[in-house]
Amino acid sequence: MSQVYNFSAGPAMLPKQVLQLMQQELLEYNKARASVMEISHRGADFMELAQKSEQDLRDLMNIPDNYKVLFMQGGASAQFSMVPINLLRGKTIANYAHTGHWSKKAIAEAQRYCDVNICTDSLENQYTNIEDFDSWKINQSGAYLHYTPNETIAGLEFDYVPEVDMPLVADMSSTILSREVDVSKYGVIYAGAQKNIGISGLTIVIVEQSLIGHVVANQPILFDYATQANNDSMYNTPSTYPWYVASRIFEWLKDQGGVPAMAKINAQKAKTLYQAIDESDFYSNPVAKKYRSWMNVPFLLANEDLNSLFLQKAAENNLITLKGHRSVGGMRASIYNAMPQEGVDVLVRFMQDFEKENG
Ligand SMILES: *Cc1c(COP(=O)(O)O)cnc(C)c1O
Repeated sequence: MSQVYNFSAGPAMLPKQVLQLMQQELLEYNKARASVMEISHRGADFMELAQKSEQDLRDLMNIPDNYKVLFMQGGASAQFSMVPINLLRGKTIANYAHTGHWSKKAIAEAQRYCDVNICTDSLENQYTNIEDFDSWKINQSGAYLHYTPNETIAGLEFDYVPEVDMPLVADMSSTILSREVDVSKYGVIYAGAQKNIGISGLTIVIVEQSLIGHVVANQPILFDYATQANNDSMYNTPSTYPWYVASRIFEWLKDQGGVPAMAKINAQKAKTLYQAIDESDFYSNPVAKKYRSWMNVPFLLANEDLNSLFLQKAAENNLITLKGHRSVGGMRASIYNAMPQEGVDVLVRFMQDFEKENG
């Protein structure tokens, strides 16, 4: 197979070395005489994998000891309900920043459990800008503040961390492990795995210990963080294969030099692509420069009639899954950790050639 660069927003591209390792290990894991998919999650082999993967993630993100790391299911979307259920702790109000499609979904879910105070709203600018934090209207009686550091669809990413006197909750599905984060500033960080961690079926939840154990009465046992925390994420059968893939990604990330090294590469990839867009009249990106995402780069063609030709020619050049989300239109290049600089360089050359021929 020729080298293909996959710009899918998620499930997304995996590093080739990790895919090859998965292939090598597929039939027999360790000395288990069976595939990792066929062994008990409570056996020695899997328990060792589980412990090592958690330690690797702790190392990669410098997660303090007073935080639990949970390996859950249900995607980031299940966290949209688990967060209010676990964090309201008798309060009736929660603060939510509305900066895009995913925060909107989180808000809709929270409204089933409490009064949501929308403390900032980017809808007026079609999710292309973020209000200065000074202007946010935080309700101090709120149980927590929820925000989405990177909005995957519009490509809108915070360049600051909100500072509040209540637990800060972040949906990091499309930005986790892409740049350094001070975990101690957060009450809860969660992320579906299929963007920057591995494959779908696994959700990582990093939660400060004192926030565990206050779940609202009569909620599903599986939705109580305490159930997972007290059972090392093995109250029931976890997603063993996605967990295994995550373990291999964490090892790969460590080999690359960890998160600081990835952040450097990611910053350069984003710079290359935005520069190419800004230097041309043929391509455009509407997001305020300060808040442009490092991970998801949407761009429009000046002539929309050329969209399908662009996608067709791109695919012929081994650049796939560039179609933008239907709510934004145009194109979107998702350039998570697994996308090398070379993939972005090839895309930029293609964009320039396409403009020469069709601009
Ligand atoms: C993809 C995505 C989600 C949805 O994740 P699921 O795992 O499909 O539930 C939520 N939030 C953000 C920021 C995302 O990028």
